[in-house]
Amino acid sequence: MFDFTQKDLKDNHDIRIIGAPFDGTVSFRPGARFGPAGIRDASNGIETYSPILDKDLESVSYADAGDLELPMGSVETSLAIIREAVEEALNDETIPFVLGGEHLVSLPAIQAVYEKYPDLVVVQLDAHADQREDYLGVKLSHACVMKRVAEFLGQEHIRQIGIRSGTKEEYNLMHDYSTLTTFRDDDLAILKAWIGDRPLYLTVDLDVFDPASFPGTGTPEPGGIDWWTFQRFITAMKGCDIVGLDAVELAPQLDVSGCSSVLAAKCVREMLLLTAS
Ligand code: MN
Ligand code: MN
Repeated sequence: MFDFTQKDLKDNHDIRIIGAPFDGTVSFRPGARFGPAGIRDASNGIETYSPILDKDLESVSYADAGDLELPMGSVETSLAIIREAVEEALNDETIPFVLGGEHLVSLPAIQAVYEKYPDLVVVQLDAHADQREDYLGVKLSHACVMKRVAEFLGQEHIRQIGIRSGTKEEYNLMHDYSTLTTFRDDDLAILKAWIGDRPLYLTVDLDVFDPASFPGTGTPEPGGIDWWTFQRFITAMKGCDIVGLDAVELAPQLDVSGCSSVLAAKCVREMLLLTAS
């Protein structure tokens, strides 16, 4: 098992886990506010050792800051609280690892990390483009998160992988800026070279997985990846300078088997080990 026991944040640590239990703007099924709790719970059943990375969490210095208290009815206030927590992590010279929550929680996190690292690049794993200008007139929505990120970061600093759903306008935009890539080995090598030694923020919308292995999410989309594909991605990203990361959109109660939470916790383990290596 690995254990997210809350450590005193005054203890030395390299990576800080921040729970952001927010699902105020989801477009379909709610429940991602229970994501951080689901991941912590499932982490108890998972080994600390990753055979593929040949690394053990026991050699990784991380601390769990617990869940932020967020006023679900106020999107702006919730995002401001998340941003403040991420800034605090960065000021303490730790790498922020945000557990969602819905995908909009990545926006304040990436904003804060970008402020510290102006040459930041972002890699997004997702089923959905999240490149809408607005969703039903609302600009601060999980369906628009990458569009909001691109407004300050620039589309040319974003790569998207696993995307299989979006509007015609979103696809036109992604093609114009060549943000889309695939999990093929040659494309992963190209992605790694594109990142180079620039600081990387990795945002993993867990609905990138196929609903067969990850039904516990608000907006399931057929045609997703399996665990082994994710593992290949993680392996390909070895050596990247990860300065911020998140795992979002687990809605544990939408999967009565509990397997989605286990998958999410296992992803978090691999992401922690990747960041520490
Ligand atoms: Mn998303
Ligand atoms: Mn998605």
